[in-house]
Amino acid sequence: MKYHIWTAGCQMNVADSQRVGSELEKLGYRSTSNYRNADVIVLNTCVVRQSAEDKATGFLWSLKPIKEAKPDKVLALMGCMVGVRGGGKLAKAFPHVDVFMPPSEPAPLVDFLLARESEQQQLEQRHKLQDEEFLLRLPLHEKNNLITAHVPVIYGCNHVCTFCIIPSRRGQERSRPIGEIAAEVRSLVDQGVREVTLLGQIVDRYGFDVPDGPRLPDLLRVLNNLDGLERIRFLTSHPNYMSDELLDTVASLPKVCEHIEVPNQAGDDDILRQMKREYTMAEYEALIGRIRARMPEACIATDIIVGFPGETESQFQATLDWLERLKLDVCHVAMYSPRPGTVSAKLLPDDVPPEEKKRRLDAVNQVQEKIVAEINSRYLDRTVEILVEDKQGGRWEGRWKGRTRTNKLVFFADDSDTNWQGQRVNVQITWTGPWSMRGLLPGQPKVVSENGQVLLPLKA
Ligand code: SF4
Repeated sequence: MKYHIWTAGCQMNVADSQRVGSELEKLGYRSTSNYRNADVIVLNTCVVRQSAEDKATGFLWSLKPIKEAKPDKVLALMGCMVGVRGGGKLAKAFPHVDVFMPPSEPAPLVDFLLARESEQQQLEQRHKLQDEEFLLRLPLHEKNNLITAHVPVIYGCNHVCTFCIIPSRRGQERSRPIGEIAAEVRSLVDQGVREVTLLGQIVDRYGFDVPDGPRLPDLLRVLNNLDGLERIRFLTSHPNYMSDELLDTVASLPKVCEHIEVPNQAGDDDILRQMKREYTMAEYEALIGRIRARMPEACIATDIIVGFPGETESQFQATLDWLERLKLDVCHVAMYSPRPGTVSAKLLPDDVPPEEKKRRLDAVNQVQEKIVAEINSRYLDRTVEILVEDKQGGRWEGRWKGRTRTNKLVFFADDSDTNWQGQRVNVQITWTGPWSMRGLLPGQPKVVSENGQVLLPLKA
């Protein structure tokens, strides 16, 4: 029996799909990359922007004739399109869908599949699932081939940013027990994973919903002691919960990378107020100062929304000036998209024209590309440690890729038989660009092209 999971959206959705896959693997299903060959098809959806929702709806309708031709195939819809309240209206809109699963909830599909089996088989399967409750089973093609994995630690969000649809789709925040997380990470390490990224809409609120419960620094300390785990990252943080204790913990624990993802969303206090972000520019900049005081070279990533209702040219210019002033490593930028049920969609007119939103998006990307090129150029000739994730194929045969602790993508070449996957390797940087770098292993000769570029020692 085969399954195929189509995943759209954020890392949380990627992690949720992995959990559905794990339950199906435990039931004896095997993954297939071609949905036409699958007995179970799962669509894990995103609705953070209208375009994402349209893509899921389009794919869902394209599956109708396949389902009609083979009614035994199981079609499941999951994620933010379903939301915490479940199928409801969707069941009427999409009668060819068998199962509707809220975000992060594989159980409805497991129950549906088990209900098709004999009572005896159901009993055996349920015992098996119970025994492996905290085991995250990777599909065969990922076992000992997946070096990095995402692990949700807190679901949902209690904030109400006026543009954001997530709280209404993923519900209130719910932290996972620390023991459950540690067991899951243990099972991933046993299957070859060397780096985990802890996930939450506001990951630095981990444990806030559990009276006297452990908080993120506690969780980081527990995972830092886990043998075989090499690196730990976490995202996405909110400026208001980045405590000194958390920053000190990141700076002091050897396995926790100097990498902070903390969205700002706009460079103007009035816009931040209308977004209900609950901090000011001055407070955000003070946070960047606190991070850099402890980790001068930390990778800091932010998010920006351009074209929020009422955003004037001068308010937008303030965002560009702010980016140029702080020089952050990454800026994920998106055009404002009014989402159904959000405060901004209800109360604020979407008055920035689409072409102007696009102009602002391009302007942020241009500014950011220059900033990143400059930051990355500081790595030239330095030796950095990377965790090797994968070997490239095709025209890049023999080239390996990995990341620094500061999340910089680095390529090196080696056509010996050494399997570098999952290893931490020191690489001397010989070339830098805005989106990646290249380097040499210790002892590799420097080959310089006619135009002075250092080439990777790849066989021609
Ligand atoms: S913090 Fe704001 S933007 Fe982030 S998930 Fe919560 S409501 Fe959405």
